[in-house]
Amino acid sequence: MRPLHDRQGRTYPYLRLSLTDLCNFNCNYCLPDGCEDHRHRQALSVAEIKRLVTAFSAVGVEKIRLTGGEPTLRSDFNDIVSTIKSIPGIQKVAMTTNGYKMDQRVESWLAAGVDQINVSIDSLDPRAFETITGHDRLQEVLTGIDKAFANGLSAIKVNAVLMKGVNDIQLGAFLEWIRHQPITMRFIELMQTGDNGRFFNQFHVPGRQIRDQLLAQGWVRMTRKKDAGPAYEYCHPDYQGRIGLITPYSKDFCKDCNRLRVSSQGHLQLCLFSESGHDLRRLLQDDSQQDELIREIRSVLRLKVDGHFLDQGYTGGTQNLAQIGG
Ligand code: SAM
Ligand code: SF4
Repeated sequence: MRPLHDRQGRTYPYLRLSLTDLCNFNCNYCLPDGCEDHRHRQALSVAEIKRLVTAFSAVGVEKIRLTGGEPTLRSDFNDIVSTIKSIPGIQKVAMTTNGYKMDQRVESWLAAGVDQINVSIDSLDPRAFETITGHDRLQEVLTGIDKAFANGLSAIKVNAVLMKGVNDIQLGAFLEWIRHQPITMRFIELMQTGDNGRFFNQFHVPGRQIRDQLLAQGWVRMTRKKDAGPAYEYCHPDYQGRIGLITPYSKDFCKDCNRLRVSSQGHLQLCLFSESGHDLRRLLQDDSQQDELIREIRSVLRLKVDGHFLDQGYTGGTQNLAQIGG
């Protein structure tokens, strides 16, 4: 079948699927007051997820990233992973997690079939980690990373949202940490969402400040692969780890964007900052609707615009990234 593509010729081998918009952390840039709605909105079931991913795989999607909210809050998380993994054409299952109970659970995630783990650590200082996330759990996450390596994972990506005066001044500690570990430490520029306008104005810092420090210390920007994500990666001969910079406010950030997102309610979202999603759930109720589902996915994709307008303060319908799966 013809692979998915849009009017700009961008192809789509990768889907981010949110398993829940609930989270147990209170990151100050995302959900400072925690989850307001404790009633679990009925997220996609394993059967619905199977139909959804089967359709995407038929049009060339090879990699699924499970995200949220916190995806591991789903008690059927491992079942979801192994179900997706068994769908023909799906080559990789990745996940993004806050690392909650990672020390106890990572073995079961890997056994279920997870191929890649991105874990969020905004600071390596336990007190700062607690201030940012509301949880004194840094050690548990670090032990989880050690266990992932011990269980055969060859590399891990760690995400940190850059915040002025908080962790942009801790670059040295992050660099020391990755000196002898195959970790790609990714600094993500804080993005403005509907909920965090004041926080954004106070703490946003451009990624180029980190870039300039890296270049001054002998780090070198690596050539981007054609299917590379939004990060620019840097390497240094004295370090086993790498640095990634994700700078959504930079010019041309959207040019190569081939991200597709489906929310935990089954809405296909073409951009993190879209006004709303396109409901696919009505076509996930039985196997006989697969052809229509594929037609719908193709036709929605024609609506994908060239870029977002974040630099003009336009945040679309996105109140926080937990809602859509960052
Ligand atoms: N709960 C999981 C986690 O934190 O890794 C997965 C979902 S979270 C929304 C995915 C990523 O988005 C995390 O790395 C988080 O730090 C990042 N993120 C959340 N809000 C953000 C914002 N306003 N700007 C930039 N990154 C953000
Ligand atoms: Fe939860 Fe992830 Fe948002 Fe933090 S960034 S509040 S862990 S969804």
